[in-house]
Amino acid sequence: MINEELDPGKGAIAARLIGLTKRYSNGTLALDRLDLNIGSGEFVSLLGPSGCGKSTALYILAGLASATAGQVELADRQTGPATGTSVGFVFQEPSLMPWATVAENVALPLTLGRHAGGDAALEVRRCLAMVGLAAFSEAYPRELSGGMKMRVSIARALITRPKLLLLDEPFGALDEITRTRLHDDLLEIWRQTGCTIVMVTHSTTESVYLSSRIVVMAARPGRIIGSLEIGEPYPRGNQFRLTQGFSRYLGRASALLDEAFQTDPWQTNNGGASTNASAAR
Ligand code: ADP
Repeated sequence: MINEELDPGKGAIAARLIGLTKRYSNGTLALDRLDLNIGSGEFVSLLGPSGCGKSTALYILAGLASATAGQVELADRQTGPATGTSVGFVFQEPSLMPWATVAENVALPLTLGRHAGGDAALEVRRCLAMVGLAAFSEAYPRELSGGMKMRVSIARALITRPKLLLLDEPFGALDEITRTRLHDDLLEIWRQTGCTIVMVTHSTTESVYLSSRIVVMAARPGRIIGSLEIGEPYPRGNQFRLTQGFSRYLGRASALLDEAFQTDPWQTNNGGASTNASAAR
């Protein structure tokens, strides 16, 4: 099994998942004693087939769901400007308010946190500039493409200046060109803000391109089966995708993903691991 350190091993820890277990009321063991340390400033992808508990782990990390057992420790419990959270969350769907402008959508966490004052507008402008939508603050969601809506969603997550940015498979519904652009923009936002990122994905190519570390999970029960450091310097750029190094990382990530399928009793009972692993990429 290819399995590098599950612990970043150096520097400060941004988040610690300790024995994290989640059993839903229908009996599904979505997470079974997950242990993971996330280093400050890392870009970690949680990679794995559908149903392995990636989103559940992310929601618990965000404080949006509770664990059945175990705990999450966040190094930085400092509050953002308004919402009392140091965590930003980007959902799979942009989930924008259709009746509100882009600026109002981005300001939502501040509005909910009753953050009054002139600097809210300034913060909205700052976040829209970071996602390349400075000129669209007065537009409505219906006027935007899918990629632009996702940019608004990312700007909304950035408005509280989170130390930890969590993204739940944010690019899955986008076409390839848009996805590629958003990859580079997300890396630039990561560089500018210095935040720690944890992103859920089931794409090996996406995880290799973006991450400093890939954590691979398997299902039934949801657990970590391996971890892979991507020791390629940033900025990476499109050329990285054409290198032998990229192919090597892709091969190693795919091998771990295959292993995830092979250890899943549902997949092996349903016609072979590799076929399913290919479908997940
Ligand atoms: P992933 O993000 O890797 O696709 P999820 O975290 O969404 O996985 O789900 C993990 C497992 O928990 C799956 O078997 C899923 O069906 C189950 N699950 C997720 N949410 C619920 C829920 N609210 N109630 C019952 N089972 C759930």
